[in-house]
Amino acid sequence: MYICVIFKKQLNNSEEILLKNPYKHNGTITSTVLKKTSSKFTKKAYIESYGCQMNFSDSEVVASILSTNDFEITSKPEDASLILLNTCSIRDKAEQKIRKRLNDFNHLKRINSKIKIGVLGCMAERVKHKFLEEEKIVDIVVGPDSYKDLPNLIEKAENNIEAVNVILSKKETYSDISPIRINSNNVSAFVSITRGCDNMCTFCVVPFTRGRERSRDPNSIIDEISSLQKKGYKELTLLGQNVDSYLWYGGGLKKDFSKASDLQKKTSISFDKLLRLIAETFPKMRIRFSTSNPQDMTLEVIKVMMKFENICNHIHLPFQSGSNRILKKMNRLYSREEYIDLIKKIKEFIPNCGISHDIITGFPTETEEDHKETLSLMEYVKYDFGYMFSYSERPGTLASKKYKDDISLNTKKRRLTEIINLQQKHSHNKMKSFIGKTMCVLVEKDSKKSNLKWSGRNSQNTVVVFNKENYKIGDFVDVKIKDCTSGTLLGNAISYSKSI
Ligand code: SAM
Repeated sequence: MYICVIFKKQLNNSEEILLKNPYKHNGTITSTVLKKTSSKFTKKAYIESYGCQMNFSDSEVVASILSTNDFEITSKPEDASLILLNTCSIRDKAEQKIRKRLNDFNHLKRINSKIKIGVLGCMAERVKHKFLEEEKIVDIVVGPDSYKDLPNLIEKAENNIEAVNVILSKKETYSDISPIRINSNNVSAFVSITRGCDNMCTFCVVPFTRGRERSRDPNSIIDEISSLQKKGYKELTLLGQNVDSYLWYGGGLKKDFSKASDLQKKTSISFDKLLRLIAETFPKMRIRFSTSNPQDMTLEVIKVMMKFENICNHIHLPFQSGSNRILKKMNRLYSREEYIDLIKKIKEFIPNCGISHDIITGFPTETEEDHKETLSLMEYVKYDFGYMFSYSERPGTLASKKYKDDISLNTKKRRLTEIINLQQKHSHNKMKSFIGKTMCVLVEKDSKKSNLKWSGRNSQNTVVVFNKENYKIGDFVDVKIKDCTSGTLLGNAISYSKSI
């Protein structure tokens, strides 16, 4: 679960909005600042984001749409006339958190009945109109493809008309919206390249909440990165549920590619081509991408990564289960053996590549044997880090229709603990292997523990903490690693880095 908390302070004539995003996906907490110099806003909106990086990125799109409709983003819900929760449906716990949070906002509405409360994103899409009945305080319900309709929906809500838009689009990629960068250090930004997902993993609610997969026009991606570079950003993360499946052929759904003309097919751009184009066009920008689905990751992508120094040596490669029987039931379209082959290729071409994973334990019918196969795959790969979850049955998914959620809570908990313990051991060993090495770190923010130290990440996406000296946020610094914890490297700065 990831929450976004916003703080605001006055800075000379401009207003600085500090947005804290305890987003744990890469083990870091990002502080973000949005600067506004004009005072054209007449209304205030408060946004809280939950869930994956895509949601956080979507909130930047929403902030942009609201800003052109007279809304200033505030850090204080009590100051806002509009409160928006950008929600996540991936596991039941995530949805329970949102319901609890809505309850928290109830008291504000009792004090000021004019406040409008909106639910955005995946949970809005899943629950739809029922939200208005189930949660009486909700006025607006907006799915991930309908953010452009927000001004209209807000007006409806202000006139006490039901304000729901959960239509999923075949085309929407928000390529014409310039996201309001709420990244305070002006160093790292998310750039969304695909929306939706066609994979239909049986456990996953995403295809139902985010719709079919479509890719964004590469020209608009290049324009967005160009604008980030002009503003001094040093690192971008290309985002999508399944980035390796990126395919631009002039617009339209990925599933309709077979109907495209010969010319469209010939001139289409796949992920390796997009990655190469971005790496060549922006040699001074660090490039990351997430998430990769093993079934779509190609050797071409690995070769492009190997060729360009500015593409970080890190691949997030969820495997979910080490058992072929379970992978099949999950409708993951790769086998354990194919996954291992891919890992071998990655290690062969990029020997120092950081690799991370997602695992689901306790999927229906999972036996101790299946569980052991997950542990043995972890032993084989020795991941740098990972995200580990107990299976949570999601309404509407194929698994919920076909398979009984038959693994007891205790068994799920015990298996998850075993998986987490093994990952911690591997992470710590990996950290120790960095000791004595010098690595390039991009400075991102103050260290959580001491404001005398900087925190940044190396190419493998590991957090590195070192003394500040005269370096500043946004510098690439060579750091010699002296020590580590199980999640952080500790070192001394040597000099400005020649690499990135
Ligand atoms: N698109 C990526 C993929 O499929 O590889 C990841 C998408 S999802 C937002 C992030 C992770 O949540 C998944 O990789 C999976 O491990 C986990 N997840 C998804 N559905 C889940 C469920 N029903 N129960 C538990 N974990 C789940």
